[in-house]
Amino acid sequence: MTADLDSHVICIGAGQASLSCAAKLRALGYAGAITLIGDEPHLPYQRPPLSKKYLTREMSADRLLLRPPEWFAENKVTCLTGQRVTAIDRATRRVSFGSGEKLGYSKLLIATGCTPRRLPQAMTANFAHIYTVRDIGDIDSLAKHFQPGARIVVVGGGYIGLEAASVAVKAGMHVTILEAAPRILERVSCKETSAYFHALHTSHGVDIVTGAKLEVLRGKDGAVSAAVLADRRVFPCEAVIVGIGVTPNAGLAADAGLIVDNGIVVDEFCRTSDPDILAAGDCTSFPHQGGRLRLESVPHAIAHGEAAAMTIAGQPQPYVAKPWFWSDQYDIKLQIAGLNQGYDSVVTRGPGPAGDYSVWYYKAGTLLAVDAMNAAAAYMVGKRLIESGLSVAPDRVRDLASDMKSWLKP
Ligand SMILES: Cc1cc2nc3c(=O)[nH]c(=O)nc-3n(C[C@H](O)[C@H](O)[C@H](O)COP(=O)(O)OP(=O)(O)OC[C@H]3O[C@@H](n4cnc5c(N)ncnc54)[C@H](O)[C@@H]3O)c2cc1C
Repeated sequence: MTADLDSHVICIGAGQASLSCAAKLRALGYAGAITLIGDEPHLPYQRPPLSKKYLTREMSADRLLLRPPEWFAENKVTCLTGQRVTAIDRATRRVSFGSGEKLGYSKLLIATGCTPRRLPQAMTANFAHIYTVRDIGDIDSLAKHFQPGARIVVVGGGYIGLEAASVAVKAGMHVTILEAAPRILERVSCKETSAYFHALHTSHGVDIVTGAKLEVLRGKDGAVSAAVLADRRVFPCEAVIVGIGVTPNAGLAADAGLIVDNGIVVDEFCRTSDPDILAAGDCTSFPHQGGRLRLESVPHAIAHGEAAAMTIAGQPQPYVAKPWFWSDQYDIKLQIAGLNQGYDSVVTRGPGPAGDYSVWYYKAGTLLAVDAMNAAAAYMVGKRLIESGLSVAPDRVRDLASDMKSWLKP
């Protein structure tokens, strides 16, 4: 590999944020070299379908790609796949690979995403058929177990675990969700939204165990065969999905002496503590309303990658968080607008005649966020209100006869 230090943007991680940065750089007319370096053997792809239509096998791997292969040649963007960056040398502005080769940059973007948390080895004894859900390889291995009548235990009742559970049910499997907290989705939603999804899953036959203290996984012939709780309850299974959250991939940045605190610390222009190194997406902690925030969502990764490109291209714009998210479970589309952190009250709307239901979060009377279940209009209106810094009186939210569009009028 040759080192080109004059005008060469390197993006570590060939995921959503890096691709977005590269595309935006070209759209802004950046004429220098751009290289994405990814440790996965694939061109940049979208992850949301992994726990949805890719797991059901309704979607093929080529449809996951964020851009077709020819896009990279047409836009003069080099994408090195299957290559892991092992170090950043800030003094010489070079990144190193495991092979010892080095590549020089003028600006560097770190967009390395997250790694799923795993159960401790003492608990799993490294048995086969225990899966996390992060990349194509995980799903290709996991999907083999999705057979009618098979039993699966999902550890963790967060969105990824719940989505995988709904796909497993569709495949005719027996599903048990083991959630350590008193309710599923506890970390991310209020009890009304948790109750909605709890009822949804149990109505499809999922066994949800809350307050579940997992003690150990048992195995047979080298593969997991049961999950055992501290209260001695035993859940036999042929596979386990572990969905207990993620940690940001900030080790490279930390080793290079950059500031890391629950992710790579960046300013509102995606700059790290080194002016030539930016970071974007899941692996970062960025300024938000006087504090710092780390987001794991596609809309954020796209917009943050674009914000990094604006800075690199000399047109910096302060980044404003894009806290929009969605999840598909059975025939329910959940859309989330805003961030519910710090809410002090919740108002529900519905179910309406079409089964639409939404949960509205407030803090001191100001609307913070909306969880919309098959309620696209509630999501759109909630999103527009939050984006504009507007609110709506809880009484109007509760009243199904109140026309939501009228809430947007001053
Ligand atoms: C199963 C699943 C379902 C999801 N569903 C939704 C959803 O419904 N809605 C939503 O908004 N978001 C969803 N997300 C989250 C969303 O996919 C992420 O927020 C988004 O992909 C983050 O983009 P990123 O570029 O920051 O990181 P990623 O897309 O994860 O890309 C980072 C890449 O960097 C690579 N990398 C790490 N270290 C190195 C290194 N040293 N050298 C080279 N490469 C490296 C990683 O392997 C990875 O390929 C989901 C995520 C998963 C896993």
